[in-house]
Amino acid sequence: MAETVGFIGLGIMGQGMARNLLQAGFDVTVWNRTAAKMEPLVADGAKAAESPADVAARSDIIITCVSDTPDVEEVILGEDGVIYGAREGSLVVDMSTISPQATRDIAAQLAEKGLHMLDAPISGGSEGAANGTLSIMVGGDAAQVQRAMPVFEAMGKTITHVGPVGAGQTVKLVNQILVVINMLGVSEALLFAQAGGLDMRTTLDAVTQGAAGSWMLSNRGPQVAQRDWRPGFTIDLQQKDLRLVLEAADQMGIPALGTATVFNLYRTLQSQGLGEEGNHALVKALENLAGLKIGEVPGT
Ligand code: NAP
Repeated sequence: MAETVGFIGLGIMGQGMARNLLQAGFDVTVWNRTAAKMEPLVADGAKAAESPADVAARSDIIITCVSDTPDVEEVILGEDGVIYGAREGSLVVDMSTISPQATRDIAAQLAEKGLHMLDAPISGGSEGAANGTLSIMVGGDAAQVQRAMPVFEAMGKTITHVGPVGAGQTVKLVNQILVVINMLGVSEALLFAQAGGLDMRTTLDAVTQGAAGSWMLSNRGPQVAQRDWRPGFTIDLQQKDLRLVLEAADQMGIPALGTATVFNLYRTLQSQGLGEEGNHALVKALENLAGLKIGEVPGT
């Protein structure tokens, strides 16, 4: 018989993920701090729990997808947390993006109670969560990864076991370094194109398929050219992930020059109240430095 699944954290990502578990036929119990967000899922067949501990008491596999490291600690280890309701042998799967070191610490505390843990952060945005096409980067014991695979397959398309507990979060941060430094390159290049009097669309057409091509250039380059700042991923969430990169780099004793630069550039945009714009609005920080705007006709 399929294992029962608990889901804690019905935000932008959790809503779609929990719905896909229901649609795949799992028996799902949900909990969200703001209770109203449970209603649409209950209408679709989920059971509502009273607390994270209550979710854990009713589930074999307990998924968390909340905001940041202290939030995961709260729902798993805090008062009425998962650890106080879970049965021995249950599996906790954290799909939030949080600190790799905190993940290892949480897993160690769960292990003392005979509970298993995987870290399984996601990428693919709200569309990926809604459509069940997330990329899932999983850290933990191979047998538990195997156990969770039917659950992962209901929510994601590319599921990669990347190493022991904490490795999933570390790979997610690798992804974030690549995304933002790529975006810094796109921003600097497009500002340079603007200063050089080039037509933005023609320039993008000329370089997008060549050696400099990237997902960020193909997808966010045209948005920058049109000054369309609607978020696929907000500056505020991006900034949280860069803080996690910088903390982890500090713990490992390695430099992260590019990430630190982008972190500080995003900080200037947050202080201007732009934290809810898309992460490609990074270009605005360079525009502020240059006194030049993409899309402005030279000489006007
Ligand atoms: P979100 O829409 O802001 O939702 C956050 C969820 O966490 C809400 O259900 C919130 O409850 C809950 N929460 C936060 N702090 C809590 C606490 N202390 N105790 C209990 N519940 C708490 O965020 P999201 O976009 O779904 O993101 C969730 C995670 O996925 C984050 O780690 C994010 O970095 C990661 N992620 C997001 C995306 C994306 O495109 N959005 C992509 C990849 C990864 P309330 O409803 O009560 O506020």
